Amino acid sequence: MRLNLESLRCVGCGLCESVCSLNRDSVLTAMSSSIILHIEDKVNYFGLVLKTKDDGLVVARPEGSSPGEQHPGSDGPGAKPILLREPCDLCGGEPKCAKMCPTGCITVVD
Ligand code: SF4
Ligand code: SF4
Repeated sequence: MRLNLESLRCVGCGLCESVCSLNRDSVLTAMSSSIILHIEDKVNYFGLVLKTKDDGLVVARPEGSSPGEQHPGSDGPGAKPILLREPCDLCGGEPKCAKMCPTGCITVVD
């Protein structure tokens, strides 16, 4: 099982970050999430960075997904760099970010 990210569907609501941290630390903050927004200075440009156990960082931009390094624009205000965070554990088998994403940007694939 893994997460598939279609960033063209992302509206930048940040719900995935919040629900990931809530699942980890029982608090609503984006400080410990394994998935974070990737934002560049372009109108309606939203992407995501996911820290995975097996493939390292996966950067999903509107242009497509690729393994990669965290872009400086991926940090939210005060956010901890994603390299210092725990990798995604797929919420133990029921990925909550995929369930909560309002646009279907995050889907679960086998
Ligand atoms: S919950 Fe979905 S739409 Fe919202 S920021 Fe995350 S991926 Fe984007
Ligand atoms: S599946 Fe769970 S641990 Fe992985 S990014 Fe989504 S909410 Fe976070």
